[in-house]
Amino acid sequence: MQIESVNPATGQRLRGFEPEGAAAVEAKLVRARGAFKDWSRRPLAVRAAIVARAGEILESERQAFGRLMTLEMGKLVGAAADEAAKCATACRYYAERGEEFMRPEIVTASGDTHDAIRFEPLGAVLAVMPWNFPFWQVIRFAAPALVAGNVGLLKHASNVPQCALALEDLFRRAGAPEGVFQTLLVGSEEVAALIADDRVAAVTVTGSEAAGRAIGAAAGAHLKKSVLELGGSDPFLVMESADLDRAVATAVKARMVNTGQSCIAAKRFIVADAVYDRFAAAFTAAMGALVVGDPSDPKTQVGPLATAAIRDGVAEQVARSVAAGARLLTGGRKIDGPGYFYQPTVLCEVPPTAPAARDEVFGPVAALFRVAGLEEAIALANATPFGLGAAAFTRERQEAERLARELEAGSVFINGMVASDAQFPFGGVKRSGYGRELSRYGLREFVNVKTVRMTGLAF
Ligand code: NAP
Repeated sequence: MQIESVNPATGQRLRGFEPEGAAAVEAKLVRARGAFKDWSRRPLAVRAAIVARAGEILESERQAFGRLMTLEMGKLVGAAADEAAKCATACRYYAERGEEFMRPEIVTASGDTHDAIRFEPLGAVLAVMPWNFPFWQVIRFAAPALVAGNVGLLKHASNVPQCALALEDLFRRAGAPEGVFQTLLVGSEEVAALIADDRVAAVTVTGSEAAGRAIGAAAGAHLKKSVLELGGSDPFLVMESADLDRAVATAVKARMVNTGQSCIAAKRFIVADAVYDRFAAAFTAAMGALVVGDPSDPKTQVGPLATAAIRDGVAEQVARSVAAGARLLTGGRKIDGPGYFYQPTVLCEVPPTAPAARDEVFGPVAALFRVAGLEEAIALANATPFGLGAAAFTRERQEAERLARELEAGSVFINGMVASDAQFPFGGVKRSGYGRELSRYGLREFVNVKTVRMTGLAF
């Protein structure tokens, strides 16, 4: 397994890292075990202050962290700095609300009996993370896990080792004791052994369905708590009553966020027949007009894909969709020259068996579908093995209620694009995984919900 930083805008290799060997990994597991004993016994306010300090560093150095993301995975420079700032918000949120989320729930407090439901940390949480939001994905696991008293072991994606090391350094600089947050520079083939290790209490993965299956199976075999945040093929519905200009502008943003490499990017655009032609024309024109180029240039709207393999995979999915009968409205080609660029692409008349209808397309490719009305729109939106997010545009209250209830997804956004926020639970149903991140629900995934009855003693 190669652990390498390559600039996707140029194809230039930046740095390579030797994967850590068994002795180095063993030392980190020992350190994690030792750190947990001390960290979990510290007052929550002390842990929260360290996470808050990490947030301050993220905020004040957001430009530098952003440049690192741009260099290593091609994120647009403005969006990359915004990602670091969003991480700061999540650190603040858990630093401020952690006490409340961990407060014991008193059930009985009378006479001789005092009962409470308490929340205790589990131990070392292994986080297997993806490259697409290299800071945000990590912070949204780490901030609640650390405030709750767990320690973190990060196995980041192999193409973002510099981000992985910067995150370890961030928590060290914030004052986390040695072993509280460690990066393991190892390949995915080492993950099963880590899950099997007694010193790892739980595992969280954000990634593809294949990674989720492998990690979920290993966690099951060793009876470890797991959270799986996997892929999506989010629908974006445009109903007849929609504000069409707003729907088109939001649709472009929703598909092109992070050059299309987001689990909650809208991927299938399901449009009512009455407005389909107008939507398709305006959406295609807007997609075709996007400025593709150097992600470090603030004027660029679409950067490169993160690796050559991802770009080639997207190209193949488009080619197979066209071979299956889909029609290209714009784009559909790799862009010549160095770097891993692909044209913003719109497909229509996509048959249900084509990859653009059936699978997750992790790049700047939109698939358009024409439907007669609400019934057919909901049925088509749900005709996917995934269930992460869903967006819908309508001005009819009753339609909105039905969409909110019947769309099979972890999040439904009416008249807006799906987005994550520290205050709201994030996760999916069906093959998008299980468990939740963010909000109080995210923090509660990695705690022992403990019943404590004290007889003859008050709390
Ligand atoms: P990926 O290939 O599954 O990789 C994600 C992580 O899993 C990496 O650290 C990877 O390590 C590791 N991994 C891959 N296969 C594994 C296996 N068999 N056993 C153990 N670990 C394994 O996914 P990606 O391409 O980085 O990210 C894109 C995917 O993530 C998309 O499907 C996207 O929808 C999903 N995603 C989901 C969410 C969510 O919250 N639901 C958020 C963001 C992204 P290596 O890099 O070393 O292979």
